[in-house]
Amino acid sequence: MLVLFIFGAMMGSFACCQAWRIKKGDKAKWSHCMHCKYQLQWYDNIPIVSWLMLGGKCRKCRKKIGYAEILSEVLTGFAFALSYILWPAFEELYALNGFEIAKYVLFLINLVIFVILFVYDAKWKELPVGLMYVAWGIATVYLGVSIWQTIAVGGEVDIITILGALMILPLFYYLMYRVSSEKWVGGGDWMLCVPLALMLGNFWLAMFAMFAANILGCITMLPVAMSKKNHKLKIPFGPFLILGFLLIFFCQAAILKFIGYGLF
Ligand SMILES: [Zn+2]
Repeated sequence: MLVLFIFGAMMGSFACCQAWRIKKGDKAKWSHCMHCKYQLQWYDNIPIVSWLMLGGKCRKCRKKIGYAEILSEVLTGFAFALSYILWPAFEELYALNGFEIAKYVLFLINLVIFVILFVYDAKWKELPVGLMYVAWGIATVYLGVSIWQTIAVGGEVDIITILGALMILPLFYYLMYRVSSEKWVGGGDWMLCVPLALMLGNFWLAMFAMFAANILGCITMLPVAMSKKNHKLKIPFGPFLILGFLLIFFCQAAILKFIGYGLF
């Protein structure tokens, strides 16, 4: 768990940095300060520790680094560690089942991509399309492994529920986006829904994830919306979709049991 936390914190640091690099089109080999271009040394790059030692300021010009960096490091660290103990098929993962290990690794890769998208959307209220296609690819492989695993243990693959997941999340958001000409939901949201639906792979889970994302969005943004007089407030929905997905992904066993799916 500690190893996963440290590894996750490193990935969180990487993800936050990538969000900036994609936005700025920055291909520099080494990270540098946004203000004075000071090139970061190895001891400035230790996740969490460096930020705390420097008090969230650049070593050279003492300008603020920002809270997104430390938050993404700490939270991704926790997400990595927690995803292990909260894994839906923890017993199999713990027993080093090949299918579960493959699914877990693919999940973690997409988790890092989701952190990049989370930071990007929260900061600039848009989602980078190229990166989302990478998430589509990884989620498709994830679903493929999942189907293969079901067949390998003699289970029945429920194609309808997989298609249902794609209908309820990406297709529904795509239609809302088209019908409203991007007024209700952004063009990036339906694209982000594709990997989420593929990894949930179940109509009911996808519906719960959509519900959770909307509830989380309302709880968080309502005070903001009410405090501002501006009625054209633009709310980034990507972070809520990702949080809703994670919540439902880790509760999926309990949810499927609750609704009685697959118990007949
Ligand atoms: Zn600086």
